[in-house]
Amino acid sequence: MNQPVRVTIWNEYRHELKNPAVREVYPDGIHQAIGSALPEHHTVTYALLDQEQHGLTEERLQETDVLLWWGHTAHGEVQEEIVERVYQRVLQGMGLIVLHSGHFSKIFKKLMGTSCDLKWRDVGEKERLWVVQPGHPIVRGIGEYIELPKEEMYGEHFDIPAPDELVFTSWFEGGEVFRSGCCWTRGKGRIFYFRPGHETFPTYYNTDVQRVIANAVDWAAPVGTAAPAYGNAKPLEELTI
Ligand code: ZN
Repeated sequence: MNQPVRVTIWNEYRHELKNPAVREVYPDGIHQAIGSALPEHHTVTYALLDQEQHGLTEERLQETDVLLWWGHTAHGEVQEEIVERVYQRVLQGMGLIVLHSGHFSKIFKKLMGTSCDLKWRDVGEKERLWVVQPGHPIVRGIGEYIELPKEEMYGEHFDIPAPDELVFTSWFEGGEVFRSGCCWTRGKGRIFYFRPGHETFPTYYNTDVQRVIANAVDWAAPVGTAAPAYGNAKPLEELTI
């Protein structure tokens, strides 16, 4: 029933190699944990910061329907040329799902046009993500909320343009709230920002989180409409002027 989707999961893959506490949670990397939970109709490829061209060659991006992005400690190392390449692919219709600390990635900030700054606190507190748009395809199969016993807090104000659609709003044990599931379009591309996923917590093994990511991939996949023609246009009807 579901259309096949070609997924590329990009991971900075630094915390897992340098920090034993992170490696314990994600021994094969965050990218593998996310990718191995995706359903069969998603064909998954991985791309890593330290690969040639960060694993995001022109060819790889042309063969990607939806790109997932997890980065944190090395946003500055991502080459501008690759950011521009991903940006152009999004405008052409590739879906982009930005996860957790990817809010500060060059590609997300370029697409949003704002600072994308926020409040944070890393003590491992409870997060409850409330579904605020229950009819949305991204929350298919999800209850009224998703509860994560330990997460990093991200709090408002989150400096983003108002989302086209807001799917989740998070509440944190410490009292803050956050727009944690946000949809935009840029050009022909669909973008979803999904907040949870701090590297020291097993968030990507949570079956609701996995389901949201899988739903978001299907939602963000290109719909295959004809490319619009821009510029000087011949009239479709005979003009009498
Ligand atoms: Zn984090």
